[in-house]
Amino acid sequence: MRRDLFDEEHLLFRETVREFLTREVVPHHAQWEKDGIVPREVWKKAGELGMFGFSVPEEFGGAGITDFRYNAVVLEEITRIGATGLGFSLHNDVMAPYFVDLTNDEQKQRWLPGFASGELITAIAMTEPGAGSDLQGIRTTALREGDHYVVNGQKTFITNGINSDLVVVVAKTDPAAGARGTTLLVVERGMEGFSRGRNLEKIGMHAQDTAELFFENVRVPVANRLGDEDGQGFVQLMHNLPQERLSIAVGGVAAAESVLETTIEYCRNRKAFGKNIGQFQNTRFLLAELATEVEIARHYVDKCIVALNAGELTAVDAAKAKWWTTELQTKVIDRCLQLHGGYGYMLEYPVAKAWLDSRVQTIYGGTTEIMKEIIGRSFGF
Ligand SMILES: Cc1cc2nc3c(=O)[nH]c(=O)nc-3n(C[C@H](O)[C@H](O)[C@H](O)COP(=O)(O)OP(=O)(O)OC[C@H]3O[C@@H](n4cnc5c(N)ncnc54)[C@H](O)[C@@H]3O)c2cc1C
Repeated sequence: MRRDLFDEEHLLFRETVREFLTREVVPHHAQWEKDGIVPREVWKKAGELGMFGFSVPEEFGGAGITDFRYNAVVLEEITRIGATGLGFSLHNDVMAPYFVDLTNDEQKQRWLPGFASGELITAIAMTEPGAGSDLQGIRTTALREGDHYVVNGQKTFITNGINSDLVVVVAKTDPAAGARGTTLLVVERGMEGFSRGRNLEKIGMHAQDTAELFFENVRVPVANRLGDEDGQGFVQLMHNLPQERLSIAVGGVAAAESVLETTIEYCRNRKAFGKNIGQFQNTRFLLAELATEVEIARHYVDKCIVALNAGELTAVDAAKAKWWTTELQTKVIDRCLQLHGGYGYMLEYPVAKAWLDSRVQTIYGGTTEIMKEIIGRSFGF
């Protein structure tokens, strides 16, 4: 079915992004996988091209357009080439609402130009060694002392953890108040007492810097708090998580589509028992099932993008998109790997890397089980 989500300008932008990635990313990504990190220069080059902060107002160097279709274009193109090291979607899709919607004028002036130019890389630090799904269980504290908060604690699994300049840290300003005592603070590179731990070794996404962060008596000015008062952090997180989950779903469908496409090509060419393997009924039925599911997923996710643009995407709809598309993604890639036989197990074949890179999709941004909890709760049992 024809995809009618995009207008002419999105299609033109897609060509620009594709050309940029072909030139600046494809030739280097394998090396970045070995390095465990993407160089900052590629962020700056992407920023020059206008790939960041679409919703950042023009006066601060952005495009001033709130249209998630542009975010989708960037993420789909990155996914198509398997450049899972680029933490652009975390910056664009997840962090932009924190920096654009929750900042005051003074903060906008300080941070938004760098956000849009790619000179200030962002991250969000929710997860701790002892608390992931159960965010209310976080133990990092930010206790007020005059016009500063003193931050103590530890975070883990933080995307862009090494490269980031601005980290939105979820901390308890009133540890006795539960979720209502949670506040978001922007911790900046170089603040005394803020250090990075290991760039964690993962099973996939090897070029992505995912790190531990440590905070030891870090004095964060009150001027770095997101929002007007203490204790708003949980509400702010709950407001922004649907967009994060939709972003993961967009990536999930794009990855499944891309692997399916290369697998169909593989099945056209690979021979066994005197036939192309695509001529076996089992192969055709399997590909038929996967192609059907991916296309249905695509249309649901596109509807979610339209709903997000209209301010109507609910937490439940985003949870449905997130769990279903990412479970589908891992299934599609696993089945496609099987169709590659032994070659599917070889890292030189894109399907093998996709299999490793995709595994985390059902985990981060809220696990499949947590998504089902969110949906299940909506029935009001
Ligand atoms: C590569 C990577 C990048 C990440 N990036 C970031 C980031 O940038 N910022 C950030 O803050 N975090 C990040 N995370 C953390 C991620 O969001 C968490 O790992 C995830 O939310 C799960 O938390 P957990 O690992 O503590 O698992 P746990 O919460 O310990 O869950 C373990 C298992 O128990 C299940 N479970 C938990 N609670 C329930 C329940 N109520 N009902 C049923 N089952 C349940 C889970 O579904 C899971 O299967 C990242 C993680 C990875 C791996």
